[in-house]
Amino acid sequence: MGNSAPGAQPVDSSDPYARLEQTFPVLSEDMAGRIARFGHRETLADGDHVFHRGERGVDFFLVHTGEIEIIDHGDHGEEGIVHRHCARQFTGELDLFNDRKILVSGRAVGPTEVIRVPRPDFRRLIVAEPDIGEIIMRAFILRRVALMQHQQGAVTLVGPARSADTVRINAFLTRNGYPHRTIDSTADPDAAAFLEGFGLSDADLPVVISEEQILRNPSTHDLADALGVAVAIDQQRLHDLIVVGAGPAGLAAAVYAASEGLDTLIVESTAPGGQAGTSSKIENYLGFPTGISGQALAGRAQVQAQKFGARLAVSRA
Ligand SMILES: Cc1cc2nc3c(=O)[nH]c(=O)nc-3n(C[C@H](O)[C@H](O)[C@H](O)COP(=O)(O)OP(=O)(O)OC[C@H]3O[C@@H](n4cnc5c(N)ncnc54)[C@H](O)[C@@H]3O)c2cc1C
Repeated sequence: MGNSAPGAQPVDSSDPYARLEQTFPVLSEDMAGRIARFGHRETLADGDHVFHRGERGVDFFLVHTGEIEIIDHGDHGEEGIVHRHCARQFTGELDLFNDRKILVSGRAVGPTEVIRVPRPDFRRLIVAEPDIGEIIMRAFILRRVALMQHQQGAVTLVGPARSADTVRINAFLTRNGYPHRTIDSTADPDAAAFLEGFGLSDADLPVVISEEQILRNPSTHDLADALGVAVAIDQQRLHDLIVVGAGPAGLAAAVYAASEGLDTLIVESTAPGGQAGTSSKIENYLGFPTGISGQALAGRAQVQAQKFGARLAVSRA
């Protein structure tokens, strides 16, 4: 098992970091061998970067020997270690299924050998090796939940908690599964000093801060673009199907279309899940006898559609 950082200690039993064997599984020799057939071996020196926060379209990496550490970047660029992947552990989280900008960086620790699986081959792997696909999918979902819970790979939202724009931005980040911390400028005694450190004042609020940028009261569209949540729509590409609206109906249509091999694009103005995404618990959805939150339902449906190759363009109408 790889090493989790001190900053990532589990908070309770629902925390993915309390289930390390699922969140950061060590694959069997047999599984590692089957994955190797979809990729190629690469050698890394100590400190070599495998990927950087902010990149898009990053490949899947399985550690053969050595280690890859996953790095979280604070607002001032300070580094935290999310996890260290050892032999037969793999990198990645839900961004492997879409073109969003990735949230963390990865770096070799000591001489390291990896199997790099390029994205198209990764998609083939998931379908062709369902037992491995299931382990990877579960790990990716748990990793995103953990990033959200522990505010890793996160941005900081500062503003008056009751302001309409703070609420709008907070809802956008939450419903799109983007890790973030919130600071209520009207209640947090440290807020003024925090803002001063970035040369900001109350007139700039609400503001979204990350290592890379400061966004003063961004529109939802600008926020999605700046954080890389939005994916570019290729005007030249002819799709088989465009689904407008990623509520339960749109996501279901996308799952069925993409799983039948149709080149599918989903266009969503706000966030996947639609009205259902705002429900705290849905009791009457088929297949969930104990109920499921709208956010979890939307997250699962979104991943399912993307697993089959559907593309989701958020903040586009
Ligand atoms: C708080 C709450 C709790 C609920 N609880 C339950 C429950 O327990 N059980 C139950 O059965 N139902 C429940 N519902 C109802 C259920 O959520 C809806 O029936 C369901 O969401 C409808 O799905 P839909 O995909 O048809 O539309 P919507 O969920 O309305 O989704 C439409 C999507 O399209 C997007 N959109 C609209 N226009 C455009 C455009 N021009 N371009 C791009 N995107 C666009 C919207 O942003 C939205 O995401 C609840 C609803 C709410 C609000």
